[in-house]
Amino acid sequence: MKITERTRIRNHPERAVPEETKEILSQGMVAHLSFIQDGVPFVIPFSYHYNAKTPDLIYLHGSVRSRALKHMASGAPVCITVTLTDGLVYSRKAMNHSMNYRCATVFGVAREITDETEKFDLFDKMVQRCFPDRTVGTDYNPPVSGDLGATALVEVRIAEWSAKARRENPTGPDDDKPDALDKALDLVAGDSEFGKGL
Ligand SMILES: Cc1cc2nc3c(=O)[nH]c(=O)nc-3n(C[C@H](O)[C@H](O)[C@H](O)COP(=O)(O)OP(=O)(O)OC[C@H]3O[C@@H](n4cnc5c(N)ncnc54)[C@H](O)[C@@H]3O)c2cc1C
Repeated sequence: MKITERTRIRNHPERAVPEETKEILSQGMVAHLSFIQDGVPFVIPFSYHYNAKTPDLIYLHGSVRSRALKHMASGAPVCITVTLTDGLVYSRKAMNHSMNYRCATVFGVAREITDETEKFDLFDKMVQRCFPDRTVGTDYNPPVSGDLGATALVEVRIAEWSAKARRENPTGPDDDKPDALDKALDLVAGDSEFGKGL
């Protein structure tokens, strides 16, 4: 997917990892959906389905009464972010405490899927993605028609995406001097939690 002015990472551009977008979306569990309704911005968390074999499609589901899903089904533009928190970064300087992460942001437009066969298939894949050790018909019963009717399924066609990753050690001025602050705080080696980059 091409990088556009909207998806170009300006702050720490060296952390741009567009080639990892599919992997991040495949590994994530929670998608934060943002949209504007009546001029008011909303961000709502959802579970979601994604398959790297159809990389430009992401699926959300929920109650047919869901305000967010109804809004999406109307064809409104949406933005979705998926974040993987990989670790906490300890520093000797307050400002340099940080987190290592991988994160993908996608922009697109949604449509509702109403065909029951398509819904059944996608809901099955959705369960398989989050619960890969479970088998329909053995570990749980397949959905009945009433369940499918009560659950809205929305497909977002991704038009643009970006991905960013921080995977560094702490970057504070003293983080490469393991003894300085330990001595100041009368710590002995091994006592200190400082400078630990997870
Ligand atoms: C990890 C996670 C996964 C979820 N997965 C799904 C899913 O797959 N499908 C699904 O339908 N719902 C899911 N939910 C619930 C979802 O976040 C919404 O609460 C729900 O979809 C209702 O959406 P709505 O637009 O109709 O909310 P409304 O009830 O219309 O929202 C009204 C207001 O309620 C508040 N609100 C709504 N949801 C939340 C929330 N989660 N936390 C705090 N405040 C909130 C906001 O201020 C919002 O403006 C999930 C929630 C979490 C935390």
